[in-house]
Amino acid sequence: MNAPNASGWKPAMGDGSGEAAPTSSGDAALMLEEKLIFELAGCDTTGVDFDEQPGEIDPALGRFARKQRAQLPGLSEPETVRHYTRLSRQNYAIDLGPFPLGSCTMKHNPRLNEKVARMPGFADVHPLQPVDTVRGAFEVMNELAHWLIELTGMHGVAMSPKAGAHGELCGILCIRAALEAQGDAREVILVPESAHGTNPATAAFAGYKVEAIPATKEGRVDLAKLKERLGPDVAGVMITNPNTCGLFERDMKAISDAVHAAGGYVYCDGANFNAIVGKVRPGDLGVDAMHINLHKTFSTPHGGGGPGSGPVVLSEALSPYGPLPFTARMEDGTVHLVEEESLKEFDHAKSFGRMAAFHGQMGMFTRALTYILSHGADGLRQVAEDCVLNANYVLRRLEDTLDAPYGASGPCMHEALFSDDGLAEGFSTLDIAKGLIDEGFHPMTVYFPLVVHGAMLVEPTETESKDGLDRLIESIRHVAQRAKDGDEALHGAPYYAPRRRLDETQAARKPVLAWQGEPGVPRIPTPSEVGDR
Ligand SMILES: *Cc1c(COP(=O)(O)O)cnc(C)c1O
Repeated sequence: MNAPNASGWKPAMGDGSGEAAPTSSGDAALMLEEKLIFELAGCDTTGVDFDEQPGEIDPALGRFARKQRAQLPGLSEPETVRHYTRLSRQNYAIDLGPFPLGSCTMKHNPRLNEKVARMPGFADVHPLQPVDTVRGAFEVMNELAHWLIELTGMHGVAMSPKAGAHGELCGILCIRAALEAQGDAREVILVPESAHGTNPATAAFAGYKVEAIPATKEGRVDLAKLKERLGPDVAGVMITNPNTCGLFERDMKAISDAVHAAGGYVYCDGANFNAIVGKVRPGDLGVDAMHINLHKTFSTPHGGGGPGSGPVVLSEALSPYGPLPFTARMEDGTVHLVEEESLKEFDHAKSFGRMAAFHGQMGMFTRALTYILSHGADGLRQVAEDCVLNANYVLRRLEDTLDAPYGASGPCMHEALFSDDGLAEGFSTLDIAKGLIDEGFHPMTVYFPLVVHGAMLVEPTETESKDGLDRLIESIRHVAQRAKDGDEALHGAPYYAPRRRLDETQAARKPVLAWQGEPGVPRIPTPSEVGDR
């Protein structure tokens, strides 16, 4: 790796400020400057030969008939392949190096998962196929459902939610349906300060008022404050365990008991199940609903490589309210897809409805079940042990360089949390994140959780080796030291990436998602042309 050292720092890219001469193409060695596909090709060209189109328009199209040509760029097949391959090379991937994003559990997706998911019987099924032709797919869904229930000690599971946040909505809708069935219109959901942003967003989306529960000095939910706030208006709590400070909520059972005694339900954000799988069953802690991110704990790909999948395990109290459809084994041994509220065999009249048109993410189910069966009970327990070991290694090797606000709270779980305390005046967490890009690493999660100033959350996962972790740790130490020493050059990082510092706020608030220019003509729209969108 050509990591620059602090003393001899020289930007080497073709921006004219370093030793390297700018190139005529804008490309730097094999890192190519790639235009948008609309800039590469006009609409008058095409990569394929079409027959002459008939003049008259098919009357069946009615008012949907196109009045002008589709403005689509036309490239040949090799040009198209190169365009997308070049773009893919500007991306970072778990197959290139570690992805220490805290809270995201970016772990290696074993190739065995891919091999099984690509078997035609799984890869080529269509949701509208006749039921008799997809019995094997139902078996996979039912068996995965079985193991998710077994691993969590819960009663039922809704398989159709498409991601963690979608699963949260599913769980909260179950809670609402259960309360409405009791004629109990409660209005408030309590969410700890350190919660993932999706938790309050979900509760608000489902129509609840959200109130924050403070954290203790050691980074856990304040049980006494929670108990004080419980009452007849509280529908439930949403608690992440292990929490987003990387700590196990030791009072979870006491929290559940108190919430239940007050007539509410307990939603657990199970995104961090990786740290406790095979060790702790959330059902034993009194949880009523919990989503599982198959794309985190059970290694199916996520981020740009998704789609994800967020099954929700449910307690006995909430299971009757879960969404349709679901799979169930019939007396004759076959697996049936229950799609209606009232079948003779399965009365599911209390179901709140559906989360999605179909049954969930088949490819993710296949990968997750492959992962579970190939690891076995002992292997899954070792996942939890190794990811916690790795995170503690990171925590203890970095706490002399970076401030670890909860380092004294004991061992962490699956992720190590640091703050920006101790950096030189004018230097921030952002500088460390950008510096890490030049070091060849994807940055850790930054500025989350909000309870810690300038947070840096590192989740190594169990799939990194000690050597790999040592390289990451050395780079973080190096960049953190530069930020502590006040090395001005760090403000310019990243120097080696295709783009330097972007206006990330603008990009998030005013994304330009549609091509604004003339096909075939390079043109970047000005902000005023783009306007508020
Ligand atoms: C990832 C995550 C979520 C959201 O899951 P998605 O699958 O991204 O929707 C919710 N809570 C926590 C703690 C997470 O880490």
